[in-house]
Amino acid sequence: VGGGNRGKYKLLLIGVICALLLQVQPVEAEQQFHQVRPGETLFTIAQKYGIRLGTLLSANKFIRFPYQLVSNLLLVIPQDERASNDKSAADVIEKKGDSASKTGYMKGNGTGAGKSISGVNSQKESASAGTGKKSLQAILEELYQEYRDIVFLSGSSKSNKIALTFDDGPSEVTSNQVMDILQRYDVKGTFFLVGQNVSQYPQVVARMVREGHVVGGHSWSHIQLQKATPESIAREVADTENAIYRVTGLRPAFVRPPYGSLNRDGLEYLQRNGYKVINWSVDSLDWKYPNDSRQVLINVFKDVRGGSIILFHTLPGNDPSGIIDTVLPQVICSLKSQGYRFVSVDELLDLPPYK
Ligand SMILES: [Zn+2]
Repeated sequence: VGGGNRGKYKLLLIGVICALLLQVQPVEAEQQFHQVRPGETLFTIAQKYGIRLGTLLSANKFIRFPYQLVSNLLLVIPQDERASNDKSAADVIEKKGDSASKTGYMKGNGTGAGKSISGVNSQKESASAGTGKKSLQAILEELYQEYRDIVFLSGSSKSNKIALTFDDGPSEVTSNQVMDILQRYDVKGTFFLVGQNVSQYPQVVARMVREGHVVGGHSWSHIQLQKATPESIAREVADTENAIYRVTGLRPAFVRPPYGSLNRDGLEYLQRNGYKVINWSVDSLDWKYPNDSRQVLINVFKDVRGGSIILFHTLPGNDPSGIIDTVLPQVICSLKSQGYRFVSVDELLDLPPYK
C-alpha cells in the first residue's frame, strides 16, 4: 500500500537530483567533448565544430532521441574526423561496425563497438602485454567466438538497457561509495568480486545482495587465467564461488575473468559447471585515469549504446574515488535522459545470475 506513490516520489526525486547535478557540475567545454547548452541542437553543434551531422551521430551512438537533447548532456566530438571533408567519417565508422558484427564476435547484434574485441582490450583487464599482443588477443578472440554460447560482451544493441559493472571488490570504501550512488539513482549494478576480498569484507558483499545488486566471481586472487593450469582455474573459480556462498547463500553463475583472459581449459571448465563468462563492451579505463574524469567520461560515451556492459572498478584503499563521484552520476543522468535503463547483467542478458 502506498508503494506506487512512493515509487513515483522516488523517481521525481531522482529527476531533481539529475537536473541539479547536470547543472552544478558542468564539465568545461573542450574540443573532445561538448556539453549541450540550452537551445542547441545536434545540427548547430555539428556546425559549430565543422563536422557532418552523421559524423556526430556516429560518435555518439547512445543518442536515441536526437530532438530531446537536455542541457548539459555530454557529446563526444570526434577529433580525427574534424575538418576532413573529403571522406565521410561516418561511413568509415559504420563499415568498421559492420565488420565487427560480421565476425559474430559481438554478442547480441552488436552494431559494432568500433573495435572488434572490446572486452579484452584494456591494459588493466587485458591479457595482452608487450609483444605478441596481437596473437594472444587473436587466440582469445577465436576462443571466445567458439564458446559464444557462454561468453557475453553486451546485450542487444536494440535494447534500451545498459549494465554497469564493477570489478575487483569488495572494498570497504569504494564499493560502498558506488552502492551509495546507485541507491541515490535507484539503479542496480553488477559486482565481480575477488574471492580473497570477499572473505575480508563479507559485510560489503552482504549489502550488495541486500540492495538488489548482482554479484559474480572475478577469481580468487586476480590471476591471469589464460596462463593458469586447469587445476588452478578450477580452484580459483570454485573457491570464489564458495566464499560468496558462505556470505550470501547464493552461488553465482557469472564469472568475469581478470583482464578478460581465459584459455580453452578454463572455458571448458566453466561450460561444464554451468557458468557464463561476462566481459564488457565499454571500458571506462577508470583505473588508468584516476584524476581525469573527463577522459573517463569520453571513454564511456564514445562507445556506449543500447545493450552495453560498462566496466568500472572498485579499487581498494581508504579514500573515496573522485572518478566514481564525478563520472558515475554523469553517466547515469545523461543516459537516463536519452531513455536508457540501468539494469544488472542478468536482466540485460536474460540469464539467471545464480545457480
Ligand atoms: Zn580485475
